[in-house]
Amino acid sequence: MTTPILAIHGGAGTITRTAMSADKEAAYQQALHDILAAGQRILMDGGSALDAVTEAVRLLEECPLFNAGKGSVLTSAGTYELDASIMDGATLAAGAVTCVKRLRNPILAARAVMERSEHVLFTSEGAEAFAQAQGLEFVEPDYYYTEARYAQWQRARQQDGMALLDHDAASLVAKEAAPIDPDSKFGTVGAVACDAQGRLAAATSTGGVTNKKVGRVGDTPIVGAGCFANNVAAVSCTGTGEMFMRAVAAYDVAAQMEYAGKSLADATDDVVMRKLMAINGRGGLIAVDAQGNVALPFNTEGMYRGFARGAQEPVVSIYR
Ligand code: ASP
Repeated sequence: MTTPILAIHGGAGTITRTAMSADKEAAYQQALHDILAAGQRILMDGGSALDAVTEAVRLLEECPLFNAGKGSVLTSAGTYELDASIMDGATLAAGAVTCVKRLRNPILAARAVMERSEHVLFTSEGAEAFAQAQGLEFVEPDYYYTEARYAQWQRARQQDGMALLDHDAASLVAKEAAPIDPDSKFGTVGAVACDAQGRLAAATSTGGVTNKKVGRVGDTPIVGAGCFANNVAAVSCTGTGEMFMRAVAAYDVAAQMEYAGKSLADATDDVVMRKLMAINGRGGLIAVDAQGNVALPFNTEGMYRGFARGAQEPVVSIYR
C-alpha cells in the first residue's frame, strides 16, 4: 500500500505580497486548504486517484477565486470559453473538452468524454451536445461572471489587446494602471494524485488567459501539454499555454523519468526552470509519482498550490 497523496494548484503568475490584501490571501489559503481536505478524504476512504482529482478540480471550478468554471476570465469578445482535461495513469484513458461556453463543470464533461465516449477531445457545440446527452449541468454565461475578472479584462483591453495570465492581470488591477510587462500573461486549476493502490491521475481546467482571442486553445485540454498521467507520474500545468504546448511540458516530466531515469524533482525542475524558460514559458506545474513524491515548481513570482499526504494536515503556499 502507498500512502496516498493529492496536490492541487490554482494558477501561477505575478502574485506578489504587496498586491494582495491580508483578507484575500487568507481566502485563497482557506480555499486551497478546504479543497485539499475534501480530496484527501476521498483518498483516505480508499477512493481512487481519479475520483480525488475530479472532485478537487470540480471544487476549484466552483470557487470564484480561481480561473476555471465560476470566476473564469473573459475572451477579447467579452465571452467565456472554458477548457478541461483528465487522465487516468493506470489505463492511459483520457478525456477533454475545449471552448465550452455553458457547462457548469467542464471537468465533469472531460471525465464523461473519457469514460462514456470513444473519443478523447470534443470542442465547443459538439462538446456541449455530448455533455447534454450525459445529463451534465448547464449554466447561462453570466454564471461565470465575477467583478474581479471583469476589471482585469477591462485593464487588459487597454493594453493593446494582449492576452494576459489571470494572476498577472489581477496584479495589474491591484497596482492600478502599471504597464503590463509584455512577458507576463496566466490561471488555471489542477490536481494530481496517487492513491493507496499506487494509481496516478491528473486533471486540469481553465478559463484560459485574459483577453485571449475567440477560439484560442491553450495547453489545458491537450493531453501531454497541460495534463498527463501514466504509471510513472501525474502532472498538471499552469502558465503561458502556447509555450507549454510547444514544450509538451506535462509529458516531458514523465518521459524524462522513464527514459532518463530522473527523479520527479529533477525532471520537473528541468522542464519548468530550463526548458520552458528557454522559450519564455512562464508558469509552473504540480506532479506526483507512483512512490508518492510530490513536486510543485514554478518560475513566476507565485503559484497557488498545496498538497496533502496521507491523513496529515494539508500544506498550502502562494509565494516563492
Ligand atoms: N495554461 C492556461 C492557458 O494557456 C492558462 C493558465 O494556466 O493560466 O490557457
